[in-house]
Amino acid sequence: MKLILLGAPGAGKGTQAEVIREHLQIPAVSTGNIIREALRNGTEMGLKAKSYMDSGALVPDEVVIGIIEERLQQDDCKNGFILDGFPRTVPQAEALGRMGIEIDRVVDIEVSDQAIIQRLSGRRVCEKCGASYHVEHNPSKQEGICDKCGGNTVVRKDDKPETVLERLETYHQQTEPLKAFYEKAGKLVIVQGQGEVSDTSRLVLAALEA
Ligand code: AMP
Repeated sequence: MKLILLGAPGAGKGTQAEVIREHLQIPAVSTGNIIREALRNGTEMGLKAKSYMDSGALVPDEVVIGIIEERLQQDDCKNGFILDGFPRTVPQAEALGRMGIEIDRVVDIEVSDQAIIQRLSGRRVCEKCGASYHVEHNPSKQEGICDKCGGNTVVRKDDKPETVLERLETYHQQTEPLKAFYEKAGKLVIVQGQGEVSDTSRLVLAALEA
């Protein structure tokens, strides 16, 4: 199954991508994680992306399209994949089409701006493996330590309040039009994000069966 998870930053795409990955045994591909890893490794692409990312803006289309094209050609994506954070603009969605990729379903996780702001202020991510936690709703077992790999969990630089507002604005202007794009294609399923991660997961998994 070839899936796209849509939603504002902090809507829970990353967490739900992990749930689906385990359920369907297909890889979750996060452009944000790929870019952050490139940044940690000091690659040219990572350095190019840094200023956009830090300010809450989108990295230019041609950069992320290149990243995705390369990633989806890898062997583990043969039987399907979950795209988390891509596409984020209509030209990115059109590029997927040009790559000959037929998406089966697009799940949009809806969360209000107010809840997003509250969620992102409590988000912690593992600086080693990228796993995501929330201090209240989904804490790691030991504070500051990742359950999965033992790395340190930290506040993401772009989760600072002023950057969060920028990212929400960017989402409404550039990414939200994708809902109409995929609705027209008959692929869109909308899920209301719930307070509890497991409640959202139930709705997301049901949306895949529908
Ligand atoms: P995320 O972890 O998905 O919230 O992504 C973090 C940041 O990476 C975004 O705010 C953008 O600066 C950049 N980014 C990730 N995915 C994309 C994309 N598909 N298009 C443009 N920029 C992206």
